[in-house]
Amino acid sequence: MRKLISVLASFALGAGLMAAPALAQDKGTVGIAMPTKSSARWISDGNSMVEQFEKAGYATDLQYAEDDIPNQLAQIENMITKGVNVLVIAAIDGTTLSNALENAAASDIKVIAYDRLIRDSGNVDYYATFDNFKVGVQQATSLVNGLKERFGDGPYNVELFGGSPDDNNAYFFYNGAMSVLQPLIDDGTVVIQSGQMGMDTVGTLRWDGAVAQSRMDNLLSAHYTDKQVQGVLSPYDGLSIGILSSLKGVGYGSGDLKMPIVTGQDAEIPSVKSILAGEQYSTVFKDTRELARVTVGMVDALLQGGEPEINDTKTYDNGVKVVPSYLLEPVSVDKSNWEDVLIGSGYYTMDQIK
Ligand code: BGC
Repeated sequence: MRKLISVLASFALGAGLMAAPALAQDKGTVGIAMPTKSSARWISDGNSMVEQFEKAGYATDLQYAEDDIPNQLAQIENMITKGVNVLVIAAIDGTTLSNALENAAASDIKVIAYDRLIRDSGNVDYYATFDNFKVGVQQATSLVNGLKERFGDGPYNVELFGGSPDDNNAYFFYNGAMSVLQPLIDDGTVVIQSGQMGMDTVGTLRWDGAVAQSRMDNLLSAHYTDKQVQGVLSPYDGLSIGILSSLKGVGYGSGDLKMPIVTGQDAEIPSVKSILAGEQYSTVFKDTRELARVTVGMVDALLQGGEPEINDTKTYDNGVKVVPSYLLEPVSVDKSNWEDVLIGSGYYTMDQIK
């Protein structure tokens, strides 16, 4: 009998049945609310967190809300009811969670804002993100370098796109970009033929690529029938793909219509391929594995009675409080460094790109 048990035990071990799960539940459960699976980055974020939280001894409840605000609210309420120990939330609309977070606080559930700041609530304990202003600076810097490289000296015709107005990050990206572009607009090097500027005008609700594509169509037909557009500030790869479709639709990238310089963010695979094909000019890589690592560290410190590591206590005022934050470094990626950054770091394999 003893022999049989030991055979069974080694079989179970060999099949990986005994080792992991016993640990997983020990330290509590983390509710992870992600915005959508329609963009690959959030899938990577979710996967990395589940993997790293489980390794650290936590159970996870990971939910995606397909960019539907009531859906995300219901998921969060449900996690609170089920009694998770901590919530990690990448909000769809950063201003809609105040009531839910009051309930969380009443149940003594800590809250971490993940990547996107949660606004208008005192019940946000920490914020893990990237240096979002710097993302915008990198996008605009790459745009300006690309313009010089492809079109020589200015003036350059440029159009601006912003992210979703309900996402606090969108303003940081835009303001970071404008810190580089505004002086060039003022001295005439960059010309916005449409005159469309400011997040209330150039924002793209829910980061929707189709919305960006149709706005680009309109810009081209209203302002570029007798001129060429040479640069487009795009804050996110999913918008860049839509913008590029619109540009290609009217012949940019062929004949004497050079492809404008189009930026992006997230280093999503279709955009990396587009960069290699000479269409999109650049993107910004934000290593979601690192963001997961920082978040797991924060949660572990919070729940085990330590001090979460932070490196910013000034930037992210959510309207009620300045949320203590950890900001990671974004990396600008183009044709010259994509392989080093994306393949070299093991984020992608060569097979995924080529
Ligand atoms: C994230 C970006 C992402 C965008 C659209 C922002 O909040 O910081 O990485 O491109 O949402 O999903």
